[in-house]
This record gives sequence, structure tokens and C-alpha cells, in this order.
Amino acid sequence: MDEPADEAPEPKASQAAPPERKAGIFARVAPLARPWLEQTTLNLKVWIPALRSKAMKSGQVKYRARESRTGLTWKLVLPSVCWHCGTTEGLSRRDFNFSLRAFDGPLPIATGTFGFGALFWILALLFGWSTAFVIGCLLMLLGAGLLCLKSWRERVKLTFWTCPAHAEELTPPGVVSHDEDLYVFLPTEELAGKARAEVIVARRREGKYTSNIAAQGGDPALLNL
Ligand SMILES: [Zn+2]
Repeated sequence: MDEPADEAPEPKASQAAPPERKAGIFARVAPLARPWLEQTTLNLKVWIPALRSKAMKSGQVKYRARESRTGLTWKLVLPSVCWHCGTTEGLSRRDFNFSLRAFDGPLPIATGTFGFGALFWILALLFGWSTAFVIGCLLMLLGAGLLCLKSWRERVKLTFWTCPAHAEELTPPGVVSHDEDLYVFLPTEELAGKARAEVIVARRREGKYTSNIAAQGGDPALLNL
């Protein structure tokens, strides 16, 4: 672990917590905070569509809860082509398992509390009002508390297919559950296009052959694989 020179602890601080321990805490918190920040950013991009870039939208596939979710578990199988090069030869499957937090009406809560909280912080910075800073902090805490209260955990089981050459490069995609939909951000536009096409085909089949599917005990999401 390399420690920056400018973070040399003051005598008082070193009495309270030895420098090694402080660095240890930071090293433990940082890897936990990073995925949380990434997921929060992704959530915001789903809650506020204007934040999504064109590239992000081209990789996006949206699944509906009533088609792909059972209880609180989403089960999705992506098209049976290599996620990267699209080959159909020598494929092996890779399963990802996510635990996601889904929120009920998050945007009004977030804008109402975080927005005003940020405003108070700006006022505190501009005019040096410590009260405004405290109010900002309280609003941020209130927002986090309300969001947490109106949230629940969902599980996502996602299956990718890969050729041997691209197996190592495959990383988990961005996934957000919002308003009865699951947003999956796939690594390539081609794969996303195929996945969207499969969703449409499955929907058409479901509409036409609902009784057939029920009789076979098949999962509509898997029918066209
Ligand atoms: Zn490949």
C-alpha cells in the first residue's frame, strides 16, 4: 500500500488512530464506495433519461417485470451469440448474479431533498453560513432515509454467451430496476439489437400462443433461444 506523503498524520490523530490503521480503513472503504457510486450514477441516468448518452442508449435493453420477473427475481438469457464478436460457434455460458435496490418514485424524493440540500450547501459556500450547511446535511440525510424506506432488494440472474477468445474480457453489465422495468446496458450495440429483437419476438409469441406456452410450461423469455 503506498501512502501519499502529504497525508502524514498529526501527532493528535496518530494517538487516536495509528496511521497504518487509518490507511487500512480507507483501503477498505474505497472499494466499497466505488461500486456504490457507479450504481448511483447509473440509477440517476435511468431516472433522468436526458442524462443517458447516445452510446448508452444504443446498448440499452428494457425488460418488463410481468414478462421476466418472478417474485423479486429477474431471470434473463441473452441471445445465444458471442457477446463480443457475434459468433455462434463454440459458445459457453457465463452467469451473472446481481442484487439490486429498486426504489418507489425516487425522482421526486431525490430532487426535493438532494436538490434543496445542494442549494443550501451552495449558499453556505457563497456566504459562509454554517446553518445553511447543517440544513443541507439534514436534507441529504432525509433524502437518503426516505429513499431507503421506499426501496427493496431485487435479484437479477443474467446469462451471457461467449466464444473462448472473448471469455476473459466479459465484465458484468450495468443493470437498473426502475418502475416495473429492468434496464440492462449491454457492451455492444449488436448484442443489444439482437436482445431487443428477441424481446419483441417473445412478446409476439406470448400474445399469439399464450395457452400453448402455459401448456408446455415454458418460459416466454426462453422460447426463441
Ligand atoms: Zn467472441
